[in-house]
Amino acid sequence: MISVLDLKPEIAEIRDEIDAAIKNVIDNTAFIMGPEVKQFEKEVAEYLGAKHAIGVNSGTDALVIGMKALGIKEGDEVITTPFSFFATAESISILGAKPVFVDIIEGSYNIDPAEIEKAITPKTKAIVPVHLYGQACQMSKIMEIAEKHNLLVVEDCAQSFGARYFGNCIECDDSCESSYKDQFNGKQTGTIGHVGAYSFFPSKNLGAFGDGGLITTNDDAVAEQARMLRVHGAKKKYHNEVLGFNSRLDSIQAAILRVKLPHIDKWNSGRAEAAKRYKEFFAIESRVITPDVIEGHVFHQYTIRVKDTNRDQLQADLKEAGVGSMIYYPVPQDMLPVYKKDYTPCPVSKKLSDEVISLPIWPSISPDVQNKVADALLKALS
Ligand SMILES: *Cc1c(COP(=O)(O)O)cnc(C)c1O
Repeated sequence: MISVLDLKPEIAEIRDEIDAAIKNVIDNTAFIMGPEVKQFEKEVAEYLGAKHAIGVNSGTDALVIGMKALGIKEGDEVITTPFSFFATAESISILGAKPVFVDIIEGSYNIDPAEIEKAITPKTKAIVPVHLYGQACQMSKIMEIAEKHNLLVVEDCAQSFGARYFGNCIECDDSCESSYKDQFNGKQTGTIGHVGAYSFFPSKNLGAFGDGGLITTNDDAVAEQARMLRVHGAKKKYHNEVLGFNSRLDSIQAAILRVKLPHIDKWNSGRAEAAKRYKEFFAIESRVITPDVIEGHVFHQYTIRVKDTNRDQLQADLKEAGVGSMIYYPVPQDMLPVYKKDYTPCPVSKKLSDEVISLPIWPSISPDVQNKVADALLKALS
């Protein structure tokens, strides 16, 4: 069976270093907020080009704490995409704010800046773009709108670790006219808005061996708030100032991430190469719509759309042929039971949620394995 993700080759590549790093934490018994966390925060901030990097317990916590550190609170409206994992909207709702879902762009699956502008009200406080599947949103336009309306921007980078923004959005025809384009050109996702929120869930591009997350910001005051919020709202131990969280990045996870970080660009390139090969394999089938392999895209998922087919049957046929697949996401956030009564579905997002299917991808997936995947899919469609 070809699974959607095979983590074993990546671990095998660095196994000795990982074992030594874990052993080192155990030998030093610095399990909580030890030197490994501090070092990782320093190294990852440098890699991303962010002034501050703050380790937390998960990507969800990175969103919640990041937004709380920015002052997002009850009664605020936060504009986001329906086409994401539930943690995006959940983190907004958990703070008592209201997620306002605006539709996505067909070519990129990412939030549509034109729709953002239409949804702004006097209560709007922030925008949460999600760089879905590892592809940067149209950040120039989003930042332009945010500055015009004095809004905060929290980038959900759970799927985009190592992705960069080049103003080369598919929907802009490679020619973003925004004056912000040069300013942000080549920047890492998560360093353009006011806060970036990353997840180190094991299946993410930079995955730990358990839960983990990261907040980035260039704002000293926001960083101070976030650092305080992750340890029960205390700057000084046992002198708690506000209600916070118990949400720290484990030392063992930080040690593992330190070993993995120097490999991430190579691993992300491996994913992009695999995406190019899939595109060639599927070029002969007009019912398969493949993603463009644009610069900076890190292909957390390789998600295609399949037109005019029964997707359940297609998945069953793939399984029969020994090929795993996943649907990210079968139900857009605005249509989930938790919100259903509150929203009318966004039409593009609803349509795409019926057509998408994610295929096996990992950094070292071989052309041979991809060939098998493609063959099985093309056969199932014929
Ligand atoms: C994985 C994910 C999250 C949540 O991260 P966790 O570490 O699992 O809490 C948030 N947003 C998106 C888009 C994700 O894919």
